[in-house]
Amino acid sequence: LFITFEGGDGTGKSTQIARLAERLRGTGHAVTVSREPGGTPGAEAVRHVVLDTSAAEPFGPYFEAMLFAAARNDHVEQKIRPALRDGHIVLVDRFMDSTRVYQGVSADLDPDFLQALERVAIAGVVPDLTIILDLPPEEGLKRAHARRDPDAPADRFEKEDIAAHEIRRNAFLDIARREPDRCRVVDASGDPDAVAERVWAVVRDAVEA
Ligand code: C5P
Repeated sequence: LFITFEGGDGTGKSTQIARLAERLRGTGHAVTVSREPGGTPGAEAVRHVVLDTSAAEPFGPYFEAMLFAAARNDHVEQKIRPALRDGHIVLVDRFMDSTRVYQGVSADLDPDFLQALERVAIAGVVPDLTIILDLPPEEGLKRAHARRDPDAPADRFEKEDIAAHEIRRNAFLDIARREPDRCRVVDASGDPDAVAERVWAVVRDAVEA
């Protein structure tokens, strides 16, 4: 069972994945937790490069999209596919929908190219379930801001305006509308325990199916 978590910055993806993993392990499941960009040594190296806020020049959008895709393919082949083969439940923080949203919507790349790139990157490993954590951008930014070391420089997403976050939120909701069999939107507001219960209500059905 392959479950991905998607949503804007500060929606609580990593918190919820940690809680869900604990719960699943508690009920006797073997669980692999991972994240993107990253998850393998090669993909983590790419993460470091693409998320380095001190880079003098921002990367061109095609360069960036291909780096994400290269990292994703390594992640799929070296970690996700083998874990699924071993019978693990695999939980991943961001996957192909983040590229559709961040590179597809915000950077305005050729959609045919992005589609082909996605197909090559995931190589047939499509999530069984995608949980989209949904939160108003103001809330997400507040959380993202609170968790950052006050002396550290602002993340690149913290430098963006609310409108960019709003566009991405709607893009995630759009994916959910177009792929209702794969995607579930979960209200990410309120305290983490309440969100965890909402997530569990969705995942329980998938695990028992
Ligand atoms: O979720 P996490 O904080 O690890 O994501 C880091 C950042 O990577 C996001 O805020 C986003 O700016 C960027 N990202 C991206 N395209 C992706 C995945 C992540 O631009 N496909």
